[in-house]
Amino acid sequence: MTLKHTDLVHAGRQDLRQQGVHALPVDLSTTYPLPALGCGTASLDALVAGQQQADNPVYARLFNPTVDRWERSLAQAEGAEAAVAFSSGMAALTACILAMREQGSHIVAVRPVYGTSDHLLDSGLLGNEVSWVKPHEVADAIRPDTALVMIETPANPTLKLVDIQAVVRQAGQVPVLVDSTFATPVLQQPLHHGASLVLHSATKFLGGHGDVIAGVIACSESFAQRLRQVRIATGALLHPWAAYLLHRSMPTLKLRVERAQSGAITLARRLAQDSRIAAVHYPGMQTGEQLDLLERQMHGPGSVLAFEVKGGSAVAESVMANVALMTPAVSLGSVDTLIQHPAALTHRVMNENDRQQCGIGPGLLRLSVGLEDAEDLWNDLNQALNRSLHCEQAAA
Ligand SMILES: *Cc1c(COP(=O)(O)O)cnc(C)c1O
Repeated sequence: MTLKHTDLVHAGRQDLRQQGVHALPVDLSTTYPLPALGCGTASLDALVAGQQQADNPVYARLFNPTVDRWERSLAQAEGAEAAVAFSSGMAALTACILAMREQGSHIVAVRPVYGTSDHLLDSGLLGNEVSWVKPHEVADAIRPDTALVMIETPANPTLKLVDIQAVVRQAGQVPVLVDSTFATPVLQQPLHHGASLVLHSATKFLGGHGDVIAGVIACSESFAQRLRQVRIATGALLHPWAAYLLHRSMPTLKLRVERAQSGAITLARRLAQDSRIAAVHYPGMQTGEQLDLLERQMHGPGSVLAFEVKGGSAVAESVMANVALMTPAVSLGSVDTLIQHPAALTHRVMNENDRQQCGIGPGLLRLSVGLEDAEDLWNDLNQALNRSLHCEQAAA
């Protein structure tokens, strides 16, 4: 099902007219006046049990109406019963792992995933054990104490797609978590393919302007109740100002995603034909099973691509140093274009061998294409590549 602009513009705003306001209200209260002690007690019990709301919010760690409003809009966009927001994408992943602990401490995951997600799972920091497998090996890795299967598609930074339905089939009763940050609900709705939990680093496209750190899980109401319990206990809250900014970004989400995607398609095509480039990794440039997956699972290839420069890390470093319009920086999904070197930055926490094995080499650069004119972006990248080539020749 494709998301409509109309739905994104109006999601979570249906009651505003009735309230007599037009812009999204922001509630910064940390505590709430209790009309009677009994009301406080009943509300507290309901919220601590993970209920979505109660007669009285009691205390802002239990409930905040501004955050709740954005959660509802995101749930609607994902086709989910509920969504639970956190202070960052990593806090959201942490809450999922903690919420599943009753089922066991074993997690099955497919590499590559976001560097810090890899680190969180691999370090066992939360008392978990992880089996890293290829997508077709999920079934064999499931054990009686497996609590969660995690995949990321499109994956960071190789843009490899993983077949959600095929993983869900292999996982059986075990819930499948899909990190769908790169896709956004505009390009992919994992719950429609059988996933149980959708993770977004809302810091990226959902925020979209590089000024909010946030995370969110879209899921069933029963999973949401467990996640709210973890959030209340651990305090990894989304601040209402952040929720306000995220909600303000919702109406433009599809516009931004589609505009950036058209720029990415242009750049990917040019890079693929360029003799200075060894390889381009972009869902839209794939063939065979990956192309088939793109058509079945996504509404478009998105705006993040990776490419390998000839000449390895020296040339990659020089490209990053020579771009002028693009910003050399980690993160992605902003209105402006960002370029970064995964082996040295976002995936530095992985060990060298694991990194190499999942295709994160020294010449790999990741580009998050923004809303600028594609021609301007190409001119910038082209001059940076030319200069980098000269520095390589000067060094030789
Ligand atoms: C950024 C990112 C995360 C982590 O999110 P934070 O908001 O930085 O905590 C997780 N997964 C993916 C794919 C990301 O890009």
